[in-house]
Amino acid sequence: MRLSILLFVFSITFFSCDSPKKKEKVREPNSFAIVIHGGAGGGIKRDNISEERQEIYKQKLEEAINAGYAILEKGGNSQDAIQAAITVMEDSPLFNAGKGSVYNSEGNQEMDAAIMNGKTLNSGAIAGVNHIKNPILAARIVMDSSKHVMLSGKGAVILAEKYGIELVDSTYFYDERRINQLKRIQGKEKTQLDHTAYNPEFDLQDHKYGTVGAVATDKDGNITAGTSTGGMTNKKYGRIGDVPVIGAGTYANNATCGISATGTGEYFIRTVASHEVSSLIQYKNQTPKEALHHVLFNQIEPLGGEGGMILIDKYGDVYWDFNSSGMFRAYKKSNGDAKTEMFEITE
Ligand code: ASP
Repeated sequence: MRLSILLFVFSITFFSCDSPKKKEKVREPNSFAIVIHGGAGGGIKRDNISEERQEIYKQKLEEAINAGYAILEKGGNSQDAIQAAITVMEDSPLFNAGKGSVYNSEGNQEMDAAIMNGKTLNSGAIAGVNHIKNPILAARIVMDSSKHVMLSGKGAVILAEKYGIELVDSTYFYDERRINQLKRIQGKEKTQLDHTAYNPEFDLQDHKYGTVGAVATDKDGNITAGTSTGGMTNKKYGRIGDVPVIGAGTYANNATCGISATGTGEYFIRTVASHEVSSLIQYKNQTPKEALHHVLFNQIEPLGGEGGMILIDKYGDVYWDFNSSGMFRAYKKSNGDAKTEMFEITE
C-alpha cells in the first residue's frame, strides 16, 4: 500500500513538473569539416564501374578532400578549403569540370562555377566560360573583387586574366572520351547528364562522372559552398545550368547550412533546390536530412529530375542524399570521422 502511494506521488511529481528543457544542440568549439561530391547519376552502380576504376575515383576524391582538410587543419578559412578541393577535381579528367568537361551540341566546352560565403552571403559565379583553367578560382575573383555576382563568357575571362588567374588554350580541356560521349547523342534533341543511367551503347570503362562540389566549415564556424561543372553533354550553345545560379546548385548561409548540388540542372533551378533546403531548415525546423529528402524526392523527382546534394549545417554536421543510384562523395571531420563512398547510403 505504502509503495503504491509512493509511486502515485512520484508519478504526479514527475509528470506535472515542466519536463527538463531539451538540450540545445551546440557546435563543438574549434571543430571543422569538409564534404565533397564528384557527381551523381543512375550510371553509378557497382556493376557499371570496375573495382580498379572505383579505386581510381576513391584516390582522387581522397586527394581532393585532404587538400581542403589540410587548409582547415592549419586554421585556414572555408573558402580556401573548398577552392583547394575543387581545383584538384577540376584538374582531373575523371570529372566533368575544368579539364575533361563535357561538350555542348556545337562540340565546344562551356563551364560554369560558383562559390558562396555563408557568413556574408557574398557570392561569385561564372557561366559559359572556356580558357579559364580552374573556373572555381574565377568565381572566387567575382565574389572577392567585383561588385557583381555572376559574369558570363568573355567578360568573365577578362576579369580572371586581370587578377592573374591562369588561362589556357581550349585544347587543354580536350578529352577524346568526352567527344565520343557527344558523338553518341549529337543531333538528337536531348541532353545527357554526365553520369546518366547505363546505356549499352556506352563504353563504361570510358564513361566518366561528374560535376564537382565542396562545402566546408572552418574553426570560426564559417561555411562556404562551391560547385564547378562542364554542364551536360549536348547542351545547347549558351545553356547555363544550376551550378552558377545562387540558391539552385550552390548556396551557403551560416544561419543554416552550405549546399552543393549535382544533377539535371534545370530541375534544380526550377525548384531553387539549395535555397529550398536551407529554408526548410530555417523556417520549418526540419532537420537537414528531412529537408534534403523532401527536396530531392518530393520536388525534383516528380518533375523528372535526378541528382544529389551535399550539406554541412551550422553545427558542423555533414549530410548527403541523392535520388539516383549513386553519387561520388567523401567527407572528413576534425573529430576523426571520414568516409568515401559512391553507391548506396550506408548510414
Ligand atoms: N548540374 C549540372 C548542370 O546541369 C550537371 C551535373 O551536375 O552533372 O549543369
